Amino acid sequence: MESVNPYTGVTWAKVPDGDASHVDAAVRAAREAFESGPWSTFTATQRGHLLRKLGDIVARDAEEFARIETADNGKLYREMVGQWRYLPEYFYYFAGLADKTAGDFLASDRTNFHIFTKHEPMGVVGAITAWNSPGMLLIMKLAAGLAAGCTFVVKPSEFTPISTLELAKRIDEAGFPAGVFNVVTGGGAVGAALVSHPGIDKIAFTGGTETGKRIAASAAANLTRVSLELGGKSPNVVFEDADLDVAVNGAIAGIFGASGQSCSAGSRLLLQDSVYDRFLEKLIEQTKTIRLGDPMDPETQMGPLANEPQYRKVLECIEMAKSEGAKLVEGGDAVTDIGAYFVKPTIFAEVRNEMRIAQEEVFGPILSVIRFKDEDEAIKIANDTRFGLAAAVWTQNVHRAHRVAARLRAGTVWVNAYRIVTFAAPFGGFGESGLGRENGLDAIKEFMETKAIYVELSGQPRDPFKLG
Ligand code: NDP
Repeated sequence: MESVNPYTGVTWAKVPDGDASHVDAAVRAAREAFESGPWSTFTATQRGHLLRKLGDIVARDAEEFARIETADNGKLYREMVGQWRYLPEYFYYFAGLADKTAGDFLASDRTNFHIFTKHEPMGVVGAITAWNSPGMLLIMKLAAGLAAGCTFVVKPSEFTPISTLELAKRIDEAGFPAGVFNVVTGGGAVGAALVSHPGIDKIAFTGGTETGKRIAASAAANLTRVSLELGGKSPNVVFEDADLDVAVNGAIAGIFGASGQSCSAGSRLLLQDSVYDRFLEKLIEQTKTIRLGDPMDPETQMGPLANEPQYRKVLECIEMAKSEGAKLVEGGDAVTDIGAYFVKPTIFAEVRNEMRIAQEEVFGPILSVIRFKDEDEAIKIANDTRFGLAAAVWTQNVHRAHRVAARLRAGTVWVNAYRIVTFAAPFGGFGESGLGRENGLDAIKEFMETKAIYVELSGQPRDPFKLG
């Protein structure tokens, strides 16, 4: 398979196009490593040591990983280098947790017993990732899953497989035993083979909602555990009492950062009536100054879309919005003289929340601006979506900030900010934005089964026909 640089439009790397037989071999390797290989004898503390070492190696090679991902998906080098310099923190955080999640001793009414829980690794994890931040999406799963003691078979997106293959080399270098980490490159069929494989204990998936539903249905046949990080249509809600200049900046970051190819993109901008015109004017003015160009150039603010199908989809969504009667006030077409897949930052005003452009995920630089009268109406519109990944509220009133944040139905809510994430905070979605959480203290439990153990203390026979 060829991997195309979306800025130049030229193939820059080739990887094997795998099939179900490769998936089967990889799952067998991961199963053997989990059940009987050296990995199965490692203590949790030893797993933590290896994760720290891997974090150090990734930190050493952050620039190289960033260059690879910029070539593969066209995201700005300065964003990717920042991301890769930060990713080691995920390894360090979960390394620290590895030997602190063994289980609990339970206070109980059964005084004749010692009862305790034991958290055990789930087993072989199939990880499937999207193309927008392939390294980060994988490491969010991998750091927690390896800390728990699982082994992995990974299927990266066919559009961005290279950083995952490079990470495999670093995992070897860190000293992880053979079979702990396996990669099968290929298209969606490889992912489907992984999901339906009976040797997989858990699927950890990041991608589109429709694919996520197919995966959940297929995994149900074997009751394979699933966690799903899916799409969004996140509301960015600006009240009249916000600092408008700061909020304009946040609206731009929310939708035009990463060319809008972010699961948590603030693609619905909700503006209060009284500041609607003033805010929109400022927003358009600032949007006009966004510099499109070579993603390796530090002056560039928006790179290309990551691949040709996505480029076509975004242009189709622009036509769809126009045909629904949304008012195009900025952008609205492709730019063909810079590189391969560029679309102008685009703003539609007077969008009604029931329009498809306000309900369907675009995953591109298209902003829908929606008007509201008061707080109740803002909440109603914000929550009127099948998604629930993220939301933001902009206000200088501390009471309103807390009130609105509490009523927004989303896995992450920012107050006077957008697009901030940390390894320490759980990330995931309400509704059709997903199942389960990554990051934060509890994420390691997503890769563990809980066993309750009862130890009888008296050593005396009990009435065999009496329960309890
Ligand atoms: P897709 O759902 O198209 O693909 C995601 C991954 O699933 C790819 O590796 C893909 O392979 C694979 N795949 C495709 N079909 C199947 C199948 N039937 N069974 C198993 N695996 C399959 O998403 P995109 O790659 O287009 O990514 C964009 C989507 O990801 C957006 O909806 C975005 O919101 C979401 N996303 C969510 C995030 C979150 O944390 N919530 C973060 C980032 C993105 P291939 O690419 O080779 O076809």
